[in-house]
Formats: sequence, C-alpha cells, structure tokens
Amino acid sequence: MAAISSASEHLAAAGGFDGRNGMAAAEGILRRQAQRESAARTYARSLPVVPVRARGMTVEGADGRRYLDCLSGAGTLALGHNHPVVLEAIRGVLDSGAPLHVLDLATPVKDAFTTALFETLPPALAGHGRIQFCSPAGTDAVEAAIKLATTATGRDGLLAFSGAYHGMTAAALAATGDTAVRAAVRGSDAQITRLPYPYDYRCPFGVGGERGAELSARWTAHLLDDPKGGVRPPAAMLLEAVQGEGGVIPAPDGWLRRMRTITADRGIPLVVDEVQTGVGRTGTFWAVERSGIVPDVMVMSKAIGGSLPLAVIVYREELDGWLPGAHAGTFRGNQLAMAAGTATLRFVRRNALDERADSIGARMLSRLRGLAAHHACIGDVRGRGLMIGVEIVDADAEPDDYGAQPAAPHLAAQIQREALRRGLIIELGGRHGSVARLLPPLTITDEQAEAVLERLAGAIEAARTTASGAAA
Ligand code: PMP
Repeated sequence: MAAISSASEHLAAAGGFDGRNGMAAAEGILRRQAQRESAARTYARSLPVVPVRARGMTVEGADGRRYLDCLSGAGTLALGHNHPVVLEAIRGVLDSGAPLHVLDLATPVKDAFTTALFETLPPALAGHGRIQFCSPAGTDAVEAAIKLATTATGRDGLLAFSGAYHGMTAAALAATGDTAVRAAVRGSDAQITRLPYPYDYRCPFGVGGERGAELSARWTAHLLDDPKGGVRPPAAMLLEAVQGEGGVIPAPDGWLRRMRTITADRGIPLVVDEVQTGVGRTGTFWAVERSGIVPDVMVMSKAIGGSLPLAVIVYREELDGWLPGAHAGTFRGNQLAMAAGTATLRFVRRNALDERADSIGARMLSRLRGLAAHHACIGDVRGRGLMIGVEIVDADAEPDDYGAQPAAPHLAAQIQREALRRGLIIELGGRHGSVARLLPPLTITDEQAEAVLERLAGAIEAARTTASGAAA
C-alpha cells in the first residue's frame, strides 16, 4: 500500500498530533470513545482500531498498524475502501456544483443511478419495476417493503424466518401522530409468523441437506393452508437468499424456488432482502439469480451506495398502490451516494467481479474446509462467493443427536482478537456470535486471499492454544 504515508502524518495534518505519538493518540481516541459513546456501540467494542487511512482492502490505524479488512463495512465495500472510480465519481459531483441535498427531486445523478441499477436487475423485475428511494439505511428500505406489501394486499401479517436479520427500526412510525399516514401503512403492526430457515449444520428437523430444506418448505405450505394453523393471511414473505447476520447460511436453490412457488400460488408478495448479498457479493450480481427466482420486491442498500449511505426498493409495478408520502424521509436524495453507487455498479458489471467473487470465494471455501480437517473447533465452513462463514464450536463437548457440536462464542471471540493481532479484521455473527465471518471486497487479490487464510489459520491455532492452556 505504497500510496499510504504514515497514519501519524495524517493525524498530524488533521488534528495537530505529533508525528511520533500515533500510538498514544490512538489510545486517547479509543479511551474518549469508550467514555463518551453509547453502551450500544457495536463493532468498536471488539475491534479497537482507529482507522485514519484506507485503500482497497487495507486499513491503516492511527497507531500505524495495517490491517486486511474482511469486514468491509459489514459487507458494504464491494470495491474496498476509496476505490479510484468511486472517488472520481464523488469528486465529479462536488466539482460540478450540483446540489448535495435535493429531497427526492429528479436529478441527472439520480437518473443515471436508476438506469445503472435497473440494468443489473433481473429483467422480469426491471422491465416492469418501480423504484422507491428510502432513507439511507437497509432497515428503512425493509420498512418500505413491508408497508408497500401491506398496502397492496390489505393484509398485515408477515412471514419471516428464524435467523433472519432485517434491521433495527421499530417505533418511530408508531409514535407518529398523523393517523392518515399510519392508516395507510400498517407494517409496524405486522404479526410475524416465524418459519424455519434451512440451516444444514443445525437443521431444525435434524436431517439437514436437501431433505431438511424440503421439510422447511413443507412446513411453510402446510401452515399457510391449514385453516386452523393460527396464521393470519400474510402481506408478504420476507427472506434473505443467504442469511448474513444469522451466520452466513445459504438457502438451497431448490428451497428458494419452492418459496417462490408457495408465495406465488397463494398471492403472497415475495420480498427478498438483498441488502447484504447484493452487488456481486455471493458470486452472482444479485443472490436471487443463482436460483433464478424473481422476487416481487427487492430490498437493496449497503454496496449500492459505493460506500456512502443509500437504500432503495424495486418492486413490480402492480404493487404500486400506496399514497404519495406513504414512505417519506428527508435524506432520500444523497447525490454523492448515488454517484458513488453508479460507479460501483458499473465497475462490478464491467469487470465481472461477481464471477471473480464466485471463483475466489470457492477457492477460499475449499482451503477453509481443508483447515477444518485439522481443527475440530471448526464445526462448519459455508458460504457463497465472498460471503463466508466459519462456525466455531466446542469440540470437547458432546455433539447433539444429529452430530452438531455446541457453539463456542468465547473461542470465536478469542479468534477474532488473535486475528486482529495478526492484522486481520473479521466479524463475528450467527447464533451465539460464534461464526467467524469473512466479507472481503470483491477486488481481493489472490495474494490477499492467501494472507487472509494464513492469518486466520494462525489466529485459530493461537486461540486454541490459549483456550487449552486456560482449561489445563
Ligand atoms: N437486511 C440485511 C440482510 C442486513 O444484513 C442488514 C444489515 N446488516 C440490514 C437489513 C439492515 O441494514 P442497516 O444496518 O443499513 O439498517
């Protein structure tokens, strides 16, 4: 990363720090953060890094240390940090004198983004699709999708899956006084019916594989058709094609097709949340492409903004029956994000980075499976493209009746710490936070992939040694 000069130089320029005391500066920043920021802060707890510069996959901390970033803004940075095409796009808007804040008014920048996005979508959706620009977080786009479906169907039930993650918003609309807005959008009152997601390693039916997925589909259809099943007719089914926060759990293609048929046959809109899986991450541009299903609504955020905040839904025009203002928001026109997003979508497409994610991801998965053969604490290795999960388990505990070991959250946290010591940033997720997650940028080189695997292997080895030392 020759382009990056020392972090302490940057700090010196930015805040008058002395070039020699980057480490002390970093410690001070971390200490003040711990004192002043909320107890709800998340990544900052397990990753005590003070990033000051970044390029591609490499992040440099204020202390001068460099890290390979396999968190990528929780899957946002398809092109890594500060990719030249993204920076150029942002500078282009800044230099043009265009307004940065425009509510949801029409602009050339938005027009270009919409065109670029529609070019990437399944033609059956894009051909008759409408786009709603949302407030710039994935969670708001999920809210929009639910409201759209409740309005279109006149129903308020929602089908969702065990292990799902769709966001954090809950109460703002409920607290809003405008009854007209609330009447039109009953999504916040939705009754959730929780369905089993096919999770091969910890199959809720104890059989795993295709059979486990088939039983999950059967359960879904049976519940919907049972007049005494206790399920209100749903406004929508909401699912992730690969669960991210749930622990990197890819749904089998056949199961996704079954969900598509089950919902289509019963007039239930299918909403696919592509917030994390989108823009090449899983080895196809959109995760739905692998199974060939076409959702009625697609939810998109993270990578579509090219590292800046942006969230949209695209849906079949027949669903477009909501009222003007049904899903408003002040910040739905982020011009910089749209420009950065357009550049990212085009770059991923032009360079077939989805295919690259597929091939390098497959190689990384196979190497990790090799590693699992030597480490009993790796219970499962799974993923699609560059969305990879390594489930850490307690190898000394009794497996359950179906062969799965219990989760090992402390060991997983130790592995994360050891990885950081070796200059590798990884995330934990999944049940009990025991899945080590790799979400590198799609631009990862073969050498970087090799370094990631080496550092992770070293971290697992070191964490196991510490754990067995503590147990002795
Ligand atoms: N859906 C999915 C699948 C996600 O992974 C996330 C974030 N991890 C969200 C929705 C929520 O997005 P945001 O954090 O931007 O609100």
